[in-house]
Amino acid sequence: MPWETIVKSPRDWAVAPNLRDYQQARRAFSWEDARRDLDGLPGGRGLNIAHEAVDRHASGPRANHLALRWLGKDGDTRDFTYRDLHALSNRFANVLHTLGVSKGDRVYVLAGRIPELYIAALGAWKLRAVFCPLFSAFGPEPIRARLAIGRAKLLLTTQSLYERKIKALRPALPFLEHILLAGDDHQPTSVPDTADYHRLMENAATSYAIQPTAPEDPALLHFTSGTTGTPKGAVHVHGAVIAHHITGKLALDFHPEDIFWCTADPGWVTGTSYGIIAPLTSAITSVIDEGDFDAERWYSILQSQKVTVWYSAPTAIRMLMKTGAAIARQYDLRSLRFLASVGEPLNPEAVVWSKEALGLPFHDNWWQTETGGIMIANFAAMDIRPGSMGRPLPGIDAAIVRRTDVGAVEEIREPGVQGELALRPGWPSMFRAYWDEPERYQKCFAGGFYLTGDLAKRDTDGYFWFIGRKDDVIKTSGHLIGPFEVESVLLEHQAVAESGVIGKPDPVAFEVVKAFVVLHEGYEPTEALQRELLGFARSRLGAAVAPKEIAFLAALPRTRSGKIMRRLLKARELGLPEGDISTLEAG
Ligand code: AMP
Repeated sequence: MPWETIVKSPRDWAVAPNLRDYQQARRAFSWEDARRDLDGLPGGRGLNIAHEAVDRHASGPRANHLALRWLGKDGDTRDFTYRDLHALSNRFANVLHTLGVSKGDRVYVLAGRIPELYIAALGAWKLRAVFCPLFSAFGPEPIRARLAIGRAKLLLTTQSLYERKIKALRPALPFLEHILLAGDDHQPTSVPDTADYHRLMENAATSYAIQPTAPEDPALLHFTSGTTGTPKGAVHVHGAVIAHHITGKLALDFHPEDIFWCTADPGWVTGTSYGIIAPLTSAITSVIDEGDFDAERWYSILQSQKVTVWYSAPTAIRMLMKTGAAIARQYDLRSLRFLASVGEPLNPEAVVWSKEALGLPFHDNWWQTETGGIMIANFAAMDIRPGSMGRPLPGIDAAIVRRTDVGAVEEIREPGVQGELALRPGWPSMFRAYWDEPERYQKCFAGGFYLTGDLAKRDTDGYFWFIGRKDDVIKTSGHLIGPFEVESVLLEHQAVAESGVIGKPDPVAFEVVKAFVVLHEGYEPTEALQRELLGFARSRLGAAVAPKEIAFLAALPRTRSGKIMRRLLKARELGLPEGDISTLEAG
């Protein structure tokens, strides 16, 4: 059923949105102007994310403004002003320097949302190292693969994550020169073969001069997944900060007195671009919650911290819906001004529900690891069409395209026709490479477009509507999972001869990972083996990636060339028509 448009009127504005006239803003926009909103390193020595995020504010009127308020999962609170972040990130840059880390080296962090992670990211950018965050719910295998692909030089993690996930991997990581541990209670640790973060920080100087940084110098490595092959390391550069900053202003509507809460983990791109960089470049206050999702905890944070702008994800919104509007109404949420969501399709029901339960609709927006920042959005002043991702940002040219038989790409101009969502390259936060995989990178571009792998359509007014993925990657709780990574680990179990992994639709998580396995001769498809396989996968892959369901099959459908037909597995699972099976292997 078509959902009614949510009409915006200036009467609803608590403060005037930054972007009021969409067409005019698009016409007037240039990336050169956007760049002028930033300072650049003193003396024209380039553009560095950490300078824009912290140092320029620490030497100005915002020095004592609250930059980060960290809420520990057990109830502690720690506040960091811009001046504090300046000194702490300087210390971390000095720590790195003393350890022999230099420009271009990869500095990884495997941690939950703890203050040390944020300080390490900023310090790494100051040194011009490449910061790579890893999701703490990854198991040893996804961690090993990502450390190896980017050839990590240094890893900062916590004592408990080290003991559980890294220690046994060490022989497989010969390139990793340093492991720094932060204590689980943020106190010093003494663990053999590691260095203590806290002591190193204590002994480091608080001044550090950022060396010249070219806008094209690599700054970030963010892993994402494809249907096949190893995880892909999308490389982003310091110049991306121009896009982080302007999208914070235009798509998230940052105003100077905002208190912003991005619920995403920095292990995923949203938690870095908008959980670290964009709010800091705008010199606003960010709330960081270490705790996991809990509806009452979240509402009480919104209330007690007086959050004004909230950026979350559809799975979380659906979980809030499940707990009911009555709970939301027990809290005073009047400080909220703007709600945005990203990462997976936001159902129209959720937009309408939030308007009723929270008093404001969620504004869906779309982007990917590769795009580095928000590309398509429902802006604060724009009427919302529930179910639509919105319209492209000023400076972003989005199109719907089709690939022709001869491998070319042509734009579909008629509205309402489904095709692949494509973007004209040239925005500052576009990924510059997949780490060490130039061919895989090149394959993403054709006919002057970056091809996103998403299927979508555009309506007559230029709103984009998401349809699905072109490939077999799985979106679960907002996280992209590559089926191949899961299949490979299952094959390591002695009982498994073949495995095929799909995303099974789920009312809350959008999809859950489901695996089909074929057993070697001599193994029985018992419930006990099913449980054993689930446990095996979980211990290797971690809760974020492991399958939630495993089923046994006598054989997997494969093409004649041997590729697993995951689409067919999915169609059969859902009782849908099997589609074109002309390439299905006989027998
Ligand atoms: P990631 O690179 O992990 O951020 O995942 C990017 C993918 O998430 C996109 O290619 C889409 O398939 C999906 N996605 C992101 N935002 C949206 C949205 N607003 N609506 C539907 N799908 C989305």
